Amino acid sequence: MSDAPTYDFVVIGAGSAGVRAARIAASLGARVAIVESSAYGGTCVNLGCIPKKLLVYASEFPEACHIASSYGFRVQGVEHDFAALIANKNREIARLNGVYERLLRNAGVEIVDGLARFVDPHTLEVGERRLRGEQILIATGGEPYRLHVPGNHLGITSNEVFFLEERPRSVVLVGSGYIALEFAMMFRGLGAETHLVFRADRVLRGFDSDIRDAITRELVHRGVELHPGAEIQEFREVDGETAVVAKHREIRAELLVHATGRRPLVAPLALENAGVEVDEDGFIRVDESLRTSVPHIYAAGDVVGRAPLTPVALAEGMYVARRLFGGEPRPVDYELIPTAVFTTPPIATVGLTEEQARERGHELRIFMSTFRPLKLTLTDSESRTTMKLVVDAKTDRVLGCHMVGADAPEIIQGLAVAMQAGATKAHFDRTLGIHPTAAEEFVTMREPVR
Ligand code: FAD
Ligand code: NDP
Repeated sequence: MSDAPTYDFVVIGAGSAGVRAARIAASLGARVAIVESSAYGGTCVNLGCIPKKLLVYASEFPEACHIASSYGFRVQGVEHDFAALIANKNREIARLNGVYERLLRNAGVEIVDGLARFVDPHTLEVGERRLRGEQILIATGGEPYRLHVPGNHLGITSNEVFFLEERPRSVVLVGSGYIALEFAMMFRGLGAETHLVFRADRVLRGFDSDIRDAITRELVHRGVELHPGAEIQEFREVDGETAVVAKHREIRAELLVHATGRRPLVAPLALENAGVEVDEDGFIRVDESLRTSVPHIYAAGDVVGRAPLTPVALAEGMYVARRLFGGEPRPVDYELIPTAVFTTPPIATVGLTEEQARERGHELRIFMSTFRPLKLTLTDSESRTTMKLVVDAKTDRVLGCHMVGADAPEIIQGLAVAMQAGATKAHFDRTLGIHPTAAEEFVTMREPVR
């Protein structure tokens, strides 16, 4: 073992949080090393947001072809080459890996390839090397979780979906959160028979009830078969297929995909050697400044699990770097996190759901509109757009904006700015629409539905 070189800041994990923290710290003059055991860019770039959205784009072309026929196009003999999609996606991700590597190197960050584990509170071991950090950031992200039932080794997770060689004939997805819904719509859009098996009575726990209902209608009319209220007992191989065995029913498909949440990736770190505490689910315990139980060790991103989304990981990484090495540390505002589920059509939301607002004691005015988007009026599509505003009746403040419909994430991103600025319903009412758009409906809803 060589003598351990000392850095001002050692970052473990070159994902969203780690890359941002390392770059900012280096730009503020710190001597920084980042350790990465896999591909630069982390989950978002390699196994999450980016490849997911490319696959979702792909899955929307068949419907676009169908719609095109109502606009006078004769679209015949369209075929899809799934292997070509994956190959093109892989090429783009490899390009992005290079971009991330260059970003780090150009910022003066030393990259150390390998799996890091603590030897003591200041020292990390990476293969044959040792590094010493005055300050350390744990940004190791998470990994897919499989239910603890017999046969859970069968099937794959989102990680492997990105490398399938062909489109499965049929798919059963377990879960009804972000990943289950996005992948269900993606597989269905590409033509696979698609089943969603989940324990709740409705998909997307935690989202606004009207939005949950709206996306359920979209799933059903696109032909995704829903199996709610399923108490899953085991997974089993039957006649070359995989079966999800639940109480009173069994759902079989060629491919099983586990989408039952993610867990923090901490096991390889040997946290006990540093004295870093985790909670009962393995998430690293941090205080409001993202400091762990060991004062010079911080944690950010999915490994903390406050809101496992890339923009949150980026903001947390930036906060830690600025807090330690200068600049203006801006604490992350966890109250107003806009988020989207990239289904077809997509869901986007910012602020409180109607249920959350009621729980917090707000008296509410609810505005909602469900309509057929103009683009589909020439077609036989049953898809509808739903928009909803949750407004405090006393202060007129807009507490939540929710949407299911084409371009929802693009629209809600703008409304998130308005909400940050404290917009009231009167501000929405005073705003002129852009016509003809779906978004203008957000500024023309006049009568509360309740
Ligand atoms: P990660 O990006 O996971 O980075 C952690 C890095 O640490 C990894 O590269 C890992 O290899 C490395 N590592 C782990 N342990 C060690 C070790 N001991 N030594 C060295 N390196 C180590 N979020 C969105 O906002 N929008 C989306 O559309 C979206 N889509 C998603 C789709 C899917 C399928 C998934 C799984 C997630 C998606 N997310 C999305 C969530 C988003 O990807 C994560 O919130 C984000 O990547 C978290 O960043 P992070 O830096 O905390 O961790
Ligand atoms: P989610 O937390 O969104 O969903 C997990 C699903 O697994 C839920 O349906 C949950 O059911 C179910 N589940 C969990 N435990 C059990 C159990 N013991 N038995 C039965 N069902 C169970 O996680 P995902 O894996 O979909 O995604 C992980 C995170 O990654 C998301 O929370 C999100 O933050 C991020 N992500 C973001 C995306 C985006 O921004 N577009 C896209 C993909 C991921 P129940 O609802 O009943 O609790």
